[in-house]
Amino acid sequence: MAGQAERQFKLRQLSERLGYVFKEVSWLELALTHRSAGAKNNERLEFLGDSLVNFMVADLLFEQFKTLPEGDLSRIRAHLVKGETLAKLAKNLALSELLTLGPGELKSGGYRRESILADALEAIIAAVYQDGGLQACRGFVESLYASSLHALDPQTVGKDPKTRLQEWLQSQQHPLPDYSIISVNGAAHAQVFTVACYVAPLNTKFEATDTSRRKAEQKAAEIALEALGQV
Ligand code: MN
Repeated sequence: MAGQAERQFKLRQLSERLGYVFKEVSWLELALTHRSAGAKNNERLEFLGDSLVNFMVADLLFEQFKTLPEGDLSRIRAHLVKGETLAKLAKNLALSELLTLGPGELKSGGYRRESILADALEAIIAAVYQDGGLQACRGFVESLYASSLHALDPQTVGKDPKTRLQEWLQSQQHPLPDYSIISVNGAAHAQVFTVACYVAPLNTKFEATDTSRRKAEQKAAEIALEALGQV
């Protein structure tokens, strides 16, 4: 296939995965264009999409959890609209292969790529709004989040592992976890902390290592939650 025809074919396939057919496919093209590719890029759409996804996820949560207090709604929304979550959704849609990037960005991977994916998905949300209006956009965001919303536990989502571990142990009438420092290694500017998290009902210490005490404790709590089958 010629380049242009292949591109159109791939955009149609993406359209199917998105569950939305653009009247003006140029909106989709713009949403997929990173600023490294030139002056015509998705930054303005991303700006708008950021607001739209916050608004619509709030609306979906308001509808799904009729008695949940504001604080819980905020925590859940923050989890659903953060970059990491958006990047995961973007990966499920295989957006990566369709992004238009400048030569510099093509080489960079890892974290940069994650945020580029998240931003492109925000831009697509705004592109659907521009192309099809508010209702179409609402439907798109709803289907985008359908499985996340279905699987979501409103009491735990968006909480850090230490909080979840503490709350679970309390709910089971067990003693609170006991954190201790096993070792601190490395030079002052590059310290590595190893901590243990003792979980009484398992009579086990779970160890983890990271660049701060706080991070190591969170990791250890996560491992403990896994061992308790609470992940
Ligand atoms: Mn963004």
